[in-house]
Amino acid sequence: MPDEKQHPDMENFKKKCAQCGAQMRLFGIEGDSSGSNIYSFECPKCGHVDAESVPTR
Ligand SMILES: [Zn+2]
Repeated sequence: MPDEKQHPDMENFKKKCAQCGAQMRLFGIEGDSSGSNIYSFECPKCGHVDAESVPTR
């Protein structure tokens, strides 16, 4: 089996804050020019923001 990252289901897409470890909150999704979706996350505790690029089919 190839070690392929599965397309995450939005309901199950959880991300932890790199700074404090809290469950981050998804606040935005936008497409980029290469056909991926950029999931934007914000930490409710410390305000750290992070983004995850997710390829779409
Ligand atoms: Zn945090």
